[in-house]
Amino acid sequence: MDLVQKAFLRACINHSCLDLEQIDVILKPMCEHHGVTKPSKDTLRDFVGDIAATIKELKQSLRFIKHPISGKEYLVFGLTDATPDTHNHPGLTPEECQYFSIILDKLAVQEDFHIAWHEAYSVDFKGSSRPPKKHRMQELVQLWTDMGYFLEAQDQLYLGPRSIVEFEFYLRSNYEDTIKECALCRQLVLWDVKCSDCGRKIHRECIRKYLRTRSNCPSCNKKWCTRLSI
Ligand SMILES: [Zn+2]
Ligand SMILES: [Zn+2]
Repeated sequence: MDLVQKAFLRACINHSCLDLEQIDVILKPMCEHHGVTKPSKDTLRDFVGDIAATIKELKQSLRFIKHPISGKEYLVFGLTDATPDTHNHPGLTPEECQYFSIILDKLAVQEDFHIAWHEAYSVDFKGSSRPPKKHRMQELVQLWTDMGYFLEAQDQLYLGPRSIVEFEFYLRSNYEDTIKECALCRQLVLWDVKCSDCGRKIHRECIRKYLRTRSNCPSCNKKWCTRLSI
């Protein structure tokens, strides 16, 4: 990694979840400071890919993820073996950390990985003597949404880009019944499209590319009949 990549990695660790505009705001002064040209839209993937390859053996990942619900692309830093329990939320009480796990687990078992916003406040703390008050829960959900763990859309709370990357291992191993991988790229697929025959979920972008040269479902091999546009 060169100096700009090192500095950029530090920023990614601090922020964990950045959209493309934020990346631009962070990278510009770094490149100016080191007197190098800022990566363009096209070369940014290679710039990030180099960093990701270097940190892989440290069980860290840095990758782009397009969130199908917001339609936006994010760059997410995460530890590949993170779990909500080992996850460090500095300054929070044990009950507040437990609250994070409860919401994450609640979202992971839903058919479409979302709950109504207000359902985030009616949770069972299983006998805990000091559950957070409702206004504190609201603050925390907002904080975790700002951090990219959750995503808010149409009064619903969804799994956010950061949870999808950071807790991929945890979600795959604990929620095999609901959390599936895309038949084409093998990464997690939570929303996107389903084969109308076998019901297998596939990323919209993956199946779109695939169907340019074929017309069958990559999972059941029957003719693909699901509409791709939204
Ligand atoms: Zn895919
Ligand atoms: Zn199929």
